[in-house]
Amino acid sequence: MKKTKTPTNKIKVKNTLVEIDGDEMTRVMWAMVKEKLLFPFLDMNLEYYDLGLKKRDETDDQITHDAADAIKKHGVGVKCATITPNKDRIKEYNLKKEWPSPNGTIRAALDGTVFRSPILAKNIPPGVRNWTKPIHIGRHAYGDVYKNQEIRVPGAGKAQLTFLPADGGQPITQTIHEFKGPGVIQGIHNTDKSITSFAKACFTYALDQKVPLWFATKDTISKTYDARFRQIFHEEYEKNWKDKFEEASIEYFFTLIDDAVARIMKSQGGMLWACKNYDGDVMSDMLGSAYGSLAMMTSVLVSPEGYFEYEAAHGTVQKHYYKYLKGEKTSSNPMALIFAWTGALRKRGELDNTPDVVDFAHKLEKASLQTIENGIMTRDLLKVAVPNPKNKQVYTEEFIDAIYKHLMKLM
Ligand code: NAP
Ligand code: MG
Repeated sequence: MKKTKTPTNKIKVKNTLVEIDGDEMTRVMWAMVKEKLLFPFLDMNLEYYDLGLKKRDETDDQITHDAADAIKKHGVGVKCATITPNKDRIKEYNLKKEWPSPNGTIRAALDGTVFRSPILAKNIPPGVRNWTKPIHIGRHAYGDVYKNQEIRVPGAGKAQLTFLPADGGQPITQTIHEFKGPGVIQGIHNTDKSITSFAKACFTYALDQKVPLWFATKDTISKTYDARFRQIFHEEYEKNWKDKFEEASIEYFFTLIDDAVARIMKSQGGMLWACKNYDGDVMSDMLGSAYGSLAMMTSVLVSPEGYFEYEAAHGTVQKHYYKYLKGEKTSSNPMALIFAWTGALRKRGELDNTPDVVDFAHKLEKASLQTIENGIMTRDLLKVAVPNPKNKQVYTEEFIDAIYKHLMKLM
């Protein structure tokens, strides 16, 4: 890495920020972002958790639980992307077992809602022409298929769903299916408490951003499970938000998930789209790439207790990492990682009442966008940018160096 000249007066970040490191290409970019764009300007007290897969395996995944506890203790965390192991990764990393998704573990511990918004640069038009305003996603981050139990059914037999009341009351049992041969079953759950905090978080965010809130489920098919989500949102709206929404001239709108998708495609954008956990997982990647690149998306987990975890919405960019390991330079985009840091720093600054930290976050975001708008960009963006002779594809490190130069001008 090229040496950078350090400004003399560093900005003090008052309280501890929880730093959660990750895997592969994002881990490589994470280190560059810290060294080139943060450490030269900030005096931070970071509490570091290494969630690299090797460390998770060594600690029997205790490190992931410790990281979640640290966010609860200090209030704000920033996380790099991490590998969720599968069978291939077990071989690749010689793992003791198929550890669960760290994001799943942290989200379950904080019981939050993940909000995702596109990072908009003037010269990166959205893939969907009519999306002139950002579409924000609020993804419920607890339960459903992310906290399920599954059985591979070996052969003929009866699958049942049973609830045993803690007070010793009458068990409730339903037959899922009478298997004539092998198959699969899955048990998922959610709680009124978590759905209510999901609803509250979405109403709060929509009102704060002055954007309408859309929510969709498939309650025509799932008449109890999905219907419960719809009921809770409706009750919460009527009880606590209706007047405030009317005053702010924004609406709460419920429809079926397939109808929501069709309407979103034809809309101008400019809404918060509340999604159940799986819908949010899928739709946020669709939106991310439609707004230019998976790396042009911010992501924050907001817990009902007021803890915040900022992260990139994309994965560890595995393919680029294998090239990097072969000694090739890559043009991977660090924007989402940079915005994870600026999001966390801005929140830390707001909570600590340190406006200079908030101001730094703003300047770093501005410098990053200016760099792209001046035509210096990574490969993913060049493919979708408004054509301009100035446009130039650069490697990750050159891109970060260019941001540094813009940032120095703003400081
Ligand atoms: P990915 O890392 O999101 O990458 C998928 C593709 O999207 C890349 O191959 C690349 O396309 C493009 N891409 C994503 N981020 C990019 C960036 N910053 N700059 C440039 N291009 C970018 O998904 P994956 O490769 O399917 O998953 C890799 C690992 O990430 C998996 O082990 C998975 O478990 C993990 N994962 C972690 C998180 C998380 O921690 N938040 C989320 C999702 C997945 P091209 O190859 O065409 O350039
Ligand atoms: Mg995903």
